[in-house]
Amino acid sequence: MKIDTVKTVADVLYEKNLLTSDQLSAVKFENVNTGKTVENIIKERGYVGEEDYAEAFGAVYGIQYVNLVPTQVDPSAFDLVPIEMAKKYKIVPFEMKDNSVSLAMADPMDLPTIDFVERKTGFKVIPFIAASKNLDRLLEEQKGKELGAEITAALEEITQTTLKIEESGQEITEATLRDAPIARIVGMILETAVKLGASDVHFEPGENKSRLRYRVDGVLDEKRTLPKEMHDSIVARIKILSKLKIDEKRVPQDGRFKVEVGKITTDLRVSTLPTVNGEKVVIRLLKSEGTIYSYRDLGMRGLTLKRYEEAAMKPNGMILATGPTSSGKTVTLASTLSKLNTVRVNIVSIEDPVEIRVPGVNQVQVNPQAGLTFAVGLRSFLRQDPNIIFVGEIRDNETAELAVHAALTGHLVLSTLHTNSAAGAIPRLLDMKVESFLLASTLNAVLAQRLVRKICPNCSEEVETPEELIKSISDVVEKMKANKVLMAKDLEAAKVIKTFDPAKFKIKKGKGCLKCGNVGYKGRIGIFEVLPSTDKISLYTLENKPATQIEEAGIEDGMITLLQDGYLRVIEGITTIEEVMRVTK
Ligand SMILES: [Zn+2]
Repeated sequence: MKIDTVKTVADVLYEKNLLTSDQLSAVKFENVNTGKTVENIIKERGYVGEEDYAEAFGAVYGIQYVNLVPTQVDPSAFDLVPIEMAKKYKIVPFEMKDNSVSLAMADPMDLPTIDFVERKTGFKVIPFIAASKNLDRLLEEQKGKELGAEITAALEEITQTTLKIEESGQEITEATLRDAPIARIVGMILETAVKLGASDVHFEPGENKSRLRYRVDGVLDEKRTLPKEMHDSIVARIKILSKLKIDEKRVPQDGRFKVEVGKITTDLRVSTLPTVNGEKVVIRLLKSEGTIYSYRDLGMRGLTLKRYEEAAMKPNGMILATGPTSSGKTVTLASTLSKLNTVRVNIVSIEDPVEIRVPGVNQVQVNPQAGLTFAVGLRSFLRQDPNIIFVGEIRDNETAELAVHAALTGHLVLSTLHTNSAAGAIPRLLDMKVESFLLASTLNAVLAQRLVRKICPNCSEEVETPEELIKSISDVVEKMKANKVLMAKDLEAAKVIKTFDPAKFKIKKGKGCLKCGNVGYKGRIGIFEVLPSTDKISLYTLENKPATQIEEAGIEDGMITLLQDGYLRVIEGITTIEEVMRVTK
């Protein structure tokens, strides 16, 4: 183990811009004055996240950092250490090679544990450092696999009373179920979902068994099957929690409730659907407090950023964000709301569902069963004297008309639309019977957004670049270079454009490493286009011109398109052509 005696964890974090110089001085000051270790001070002050801390610690002490994903864990390596011990000492053995085992540890300086594992397994331990919550999650995942045994045990415990209640079809009250094993099982299912970071839980009845699946990182994975005879009790328990009618099994129902796991409160949206085999339940987990980002962190810059910021600073008018589901548009608008949120303004929002909580904003959930639609909500908002209104999505003519009306009568309205390009929003709203002269006078800006995965900085490398790819990038670059307005007004983009040299250019790719789980990508960034509100675009709106012509008018005025913004990120080595193509096609 080589130890760099000069640099501390604090220095490494500072070099990576994860600590400010003030924070660095504060740490050093406390270190000298109290004798506490730099590591403990940083932990106590909570300056950085666990992952960043672990990575910096590894850099100082020459221990490799690992961000383990379940697929990287070799089950036979995992089984070398009893799970109870793994949990107690926060260690995960994940790979075996020759006579050694790779051991992810929250504390790789814990020599007694290393010694113990070596003696117990007969393998030499290669320590890795990992964030403790990463290890918890992996160990929890393992617990998920063991859920079977616990459920079987719980099933055996189901008391006569619960069975009797089911047979007699009596009303099941919360009191009768509170202490029942079913309640424990449901609790365990939800706890597992939160700890796995799942976005949805699917509980589906089959002919003989019920299937339990979790959606994690966008992928739905079967966790286990449950005995058919438990299905109705589990559904009943979930229905009680979400205040749905237990005896109503023939129509779909929607409800919601909250769970608390550790210190995290998660909002759950429950929907039931009658199927031939019984009721299917889907539980969606909503993050209670979304992270609010700066526009730059989201990936906006240059003229795009300037125009968007200006549009959002206006006291009235409409800002639209377009793009498919998961394009990041809601995060962008939530960040905008949070920036605009001062004591002097009243912000209201109507959403379906409320995806990101913004402190201080009055957020309302659409509830069609109770007659609360986007249109109804919007109408009642106007009586609440708001300054800024966020409408989750414009889906129908009535909402479109009300939104434009609100923008026209002194409100700043933010909303989203499902169109492929920024320019496409205008013909789309005109299709929804919005009057063209009203739209022309209210639109502040239209933004289109996509999310591309970022190349993992740890394993990024230049690769041989085919001629035709260089040619296609050159074509896009030349087109931007020829745009005098763009080159003059968007200095940030112009700078990237000027660095591109077709004779020398090589694309970058992540070859896959432990830090990115062998994927080659880590994290995501937005690519954007912002259609400005110019006289020409207003005129084209009045004349109901097609999207292509409106887009041309935007480009003439210096607009960078989604595809062009994506190419700039490729030139900078931040993402790949494949990613840009995947999200823009
Ligand atoms: Zn990597």
